[in-house]
Amino acid sequence: MKQGLKAVDDFAIAADRGAVAPNALVNVLFHSLYENQEQLANRDLAPNQNVTVADFRGFVEEMLENGYTVVSPAQIDAGLSPGRRYLTITFDDGYFNNMLALDVLDQFRVPATFFVSTDHVQQNKAFWWDAFSRELTRSGVSPDRQKSEIEQLKGLTPEKIDAYLCQRFGHAVLKPCGDIDRPFTPRELGRFALNPWVHVGNHTRDHAILTNCTPAEMVDQITVCQNALADLVGYRPVAIAYPNGNCSPAAVHAAVAAGLRVGFTVAPRPPRLPLDSDSRMLLGRFFFHGGQDIRRQCRLFGARFVPSHALKTMMQSA
Ligand SMILES: [Zn+2]
Repeated sequence: MKQGLKAVDDFAIAADRGAVAPNALVNVLFHSLYENQEQLANRDLAPNQNVTVADFRGFVEEMLENGYTVVSPAQIDAGLSPGRRYLTITFDDGYFNNMLALDVLDQFRVPATFFVSTDHVQQNKAFWWDAFSRELTRSGVSPDRQKSEIEQLKGLTPEKIDAYLCQRFGHAVLKPCGDIDRPFTPRELGRFALNPWVHVGNHTRDHAILTNCTPAEMVDQITVCQNALADLVGYRPVAIAYPNGNCSPAAVHAAVAAGLRVGFTVAPRPPRLPLDSDSRMLLGRFFFHGGQDIRRQCRLFGARFVPSHALKTMMQSA
């Protein structure tokens, strides 16, 4: 199935002659960054996008060669002129390892936006999916089974997930295993945000999947994060990345009420320009994967029609 889709995607890009659609805003999502392949071999890591600094550098270089202008959320909010290609580089969650992006951002002089769940930073709490996966690996559970167990927990609120993990594995479970998986400390995040290429965004206070929340809980999740970021980095962000990409009209409403003006999901769909205020709160994003053909991935991000992306969008909205 996967191989078949890959061939159909390749056919579609070839038919497009690799042309990047103008009037496009391509948003790409990263989570952790790793120094090198050796770090990726660490058995404590949960399955992830496996992106090394070299992969990230290759991605930025390729997108710049393809004529993209890299923008910040404030530039999106101010309005992007049609007829050009824009790119937003985003990192979710607030991993300390995102420090590794700085050399690349400085080298190419491009902005990136880092969406932070502030309770994790303030409590030095591991991200639950990393902790859960680590424990399951230790118990010999296969990666596929881990994925389905993680998906099941995503139906719960953050408090219930934490309680479940502590009950099953003990209270130390949410302690990060080291620099490789921990969040920023408050002090580190404050210094990181001083870099001129770094923009910080809202990712809720403790990574709540907003569609599991009541409207009052949504407001709490978003506004507590806004206030914490004002303390930690000195400003209230204009952008939010909805945790897990899950969004609803009520979630958008809560975000707008908290002063947010740009919102990111994980629908693999580049929005067309110019953006209206509704589409600005529901921008799609693509995942970039390390260890895979960089040029091909970048072409898929910019292509006019990608069959596997259309299929994924249909499944997400089903
Ligand atoms: Zn996240």
